[in-house]
Amino acid sequence: MSENILVVEDEPTLLETLTYNLTRQNYQVHTATDGVTAVEMARELHPDLIVLDLMLPKLDGFEVCRMLRQEMITPILILTARDDEIDRVIGLELGADDYMSKPFSMREFLARVKAQLRRVRLIREERESEDILPRENIKFGNLTLDLARREVLLDDRPLSLKPKEYDLLLFLARHRGHVLTRELILERVWGWDFSGGSRTVDVHVRWLREKIELDPAQPVRIVTVRGAGYRFEG
Ligand code: CA
Repeated sequence: MSENILVVEDEPTLLETLTYNLTRQNYQVHTATDGVTAVEMARELHPDLIVLDLMLPKLDGFEVCRMLRQEMITPILILTARDDEIDRVIGLELGADDYMSKPFSMREFLARVKAQLRRVRLIREERESEDILPRENIKFGNLTLDLARREVLLDDRPLSLKPKEYDLLLFLARHRGHVLTRELILERVWGWDFSGGSRTVDVHVRWLREKIELDPAQPVRIVTVRGAGYRFEG
């Protein structure tokens, strides 16, 4: 099974070189030459990795990165042409997973691609078997779950969460987009298989919302699904 890579680059020669070399490594390569197309393709293809140039027509790489970061955890390898761009990449905490400044060697580029894809595989495996010790971070916009440290950051500031609040958030985050019943949450987070204690879930959800929602009364991250349970939106 070959991995899908979306390469976003508006310089034809570089795009061709990158595509040629990635294809030779048996990756499936998709290309975009402007920011708007890049966002559309990323949403449609859900690639395993996005290689993203910063200076792009229509929508620049900064904006593309910011938008995609809200929606997916696909690693983003940024290509920069100037040192002041690197400063912005770091300074803005774009959520890019790695960056390289031009010009770079193809060997180095392929090594970075390989490293990011290995990371993706690990995350995927870890999701499939939750027993494996997690090492990587999960990001949803300004919310970061640091799995190795069991820490949650909001706008890069660590939140003070009780252990069960953390466990609950992690469980919700790992099943983002799915409706989870209180019973299932109880069973998986607390290890109880009875429904009598489902208020415990509600209380912890309320506490979490107070910490991670902009407006806890109008939650957008942990949504209540009437008559069913909760759904984590990201
Ligand atoms: Ca460019």
